[in-house]
Amino acid sequence: MSDTIEMADKYIFNTYKRYPIAISKGKGTFLWDEEGRQYLDFIGGIAVCNLGHANPVLAKVMYEQALNLVHTSNLFYTRPQAELAKLLVENSFGDKVFFCNSGAEANEAAIKLCRRYSFEKYGKGRHVIISTYNSFHGRTLATLSATGQEKVRYGFEPFLEGFRFVSYGDLNSLLGQMDQSVCGVILEPIQGEGGVILPPENYLKGLREECNKRDIILIFDEVQVGMGRTGRLFAHEHYGVTPDIMTLAKAMANGLPMGAMIATESIAGAFGLGAHASTFGGTPLVSQVALHTLKLLLEEDFLSDVYQKGEYLKRGLRELQAQFGIIKEIRGMGLIVGAELDRPGESVVNLAMKKGLLLNCTHDTVLRFVPPLTVTRKELDTALEILKGVFKELS
Ligand SMILES: *Cc1c(COP(=O)(O)O)cnc(C)c1O
Repeated sequence: MSDTIEMADKYIFNTYKRYPIAISKGKGTFLWDEEGRQYLDFIGGIAVCNLGHANPVLAKVMYEQALNLVHTSNLFYTRPQAELAKLLVENSFGDKVFFCNSGAEANEAAIKLCRRYSFEKYGKGRHVIISTYNSFHGRTLATLSATGQEKVRYGFEPFLEGFRFVSYGDLNSLLGQMDQSVCGVILEPIQGEGGVILPPENYLKGLREECNKRDIILIFDEVQVGMGRTGRLFAHEHYGVTPDIMTLAKAMANGLPMGAMIATESIAGAFGLGAHASTFGGTPLVSQVALHTLKLLLEEDFLSDVYQKGEYLKRGLRELQAQFGIIKEIRGMGLIVGAELDRPGESVVNLAMKKGLLLNCTHDTVLRFVPPLTVTRKELDTALEILKGVFKELS
């Protein structure tokens, strides 16, 4: 075992189930470990490195900004932050952006904004937020309170008051929970950690209509599926429905920590001076990298090609499904694809890793494919070829 692994195991909290690989270098869709072994990376830092590892354009942006200005605090204005917010607003439903550092922080901000908006308008008692089972919104106590998965909630009671859960995709049970105490609904337009679950036809539309009628805030958590992952800049664009608040993080700055909450003007207005803050939120360094990440995502034909590559990957997986039958179902949109297996995914993941393909398994039985969006068709072929070898060995 490399001494990196020994050292880390000795000195770092034992909260992560890590693979016994110490990564030391990346380039595009490839990673290398300390022994020099090469891997095709279909995890992409968990849907973070959308423009590939060690992206040379972004590396240069990062370097030049670091030489110029890294951090000022939000007591001052900086150009990168302003330009990033402008470009996000120009390319979304929203009017205003709040910057933070992670997905949990973005959702935390959304929960607070939702409550504050409702409090200002309707007074006390209208503070319930409806969430869904199988969702994932983060690990802070408020976002954990909004997360519908027992395995991540275990042992942290009591949770924050005012969250209710309904089954994802069941519009009637959601509408059934909408009473006078409800101020918001939070959900992922496509559930990521929950196993790549797509919403049924008209689910989001029906939800939007009901939220409009009742002045209930609709929050879309696009932390995983936003920033081009699905072949549109934001996943909700596929469904013709816009939220009142959207949260982003993961891929925003291609690997630097950044999160954001985007809201419409009228709702953003509920956060006045001093209502919320973050020391690091939107530093010039991270904002400049996020700005250029966004510009690259918006280049002509890039996102439509992401969508097509997703279709290509799903076609390849369907062929494997026909040959081996280990795959029960294939789901996804653009380059977030899930293959539900007839068994726990761990054996597949471990064998694939030995053959040089890094894959992630979520929800126990779902292989999740979230490669960098810059992945080539040739690399998709290689990954499918490796998987074929794995399935052969397992059948
Ligand atoms: C990863 C994720 C989060 C949490 O993001 P962190 O940056 O780890 O706090 C929240 N929501 C969704 C949908 C995610 O995938």
